[in-house]
Amino acid sequence: MSHLTKKNLSEIRTALGAKREALLKQIQAALEETGQTQYAEVLGRGSGDSSDEALAITLGDLSAARLDHEVRQMRELDVAMRRLEDKDFGLCVDCGAAIPAARLVANPAAVRCIACQEVHEKTYAGQEHGSI
Ligand SMILES: [Zn+2]
Repeated sequence: MSHLTKKNLSEIRTALGAKREALLKQIQAALEETGQTQYAEVLGRGSGDSSDEALAITLGDLSAARLDHEVRQMRELDVAMRRLEDKDFGLCVDCGAAIPAARLVANPAAVRCIACQEVHEKTYAGQEHGSI
C-alpha cells in the first residue's frame, strides 16, 4: 500500500476529473475557434461517458489539428487515472520516493517528486533548446 490514504486518493481522483473536464473544454474551444467543429462535437458527446476508444481515435485526429500539447496533457491525465489503482501510484518513477499528496492533488499527472522533476525539466529543456 502506498503512503496515500483513501481520502487522498479520492481527492486526487476528483482533481483529475476536474482537470480532464477543463482540458476537454479548452480543446473544444480551440477547435471551435479554428472551425473544426466536427471534432468538438465528438468530444462533447464523449465527455462523461466511457467511450474511451472513440476518444482515442479523436485524440489521434486532434494531434493533426495542432493540439499536441493539450492532447499530451489529456493522455497524461488518462494514464494517471488508470495508475490511481496501482499500488505504486504516487511514487516517483525516478527515485521511488513518495510524492506528497498535496502535490498530486495540485498536479495529478505528476510522476516524479519535486527534486526529480526539476532535474528532468532541466534535462528536457536542454534538449529542446539545444544547439542545432
Ligand atoms: Zn524522485
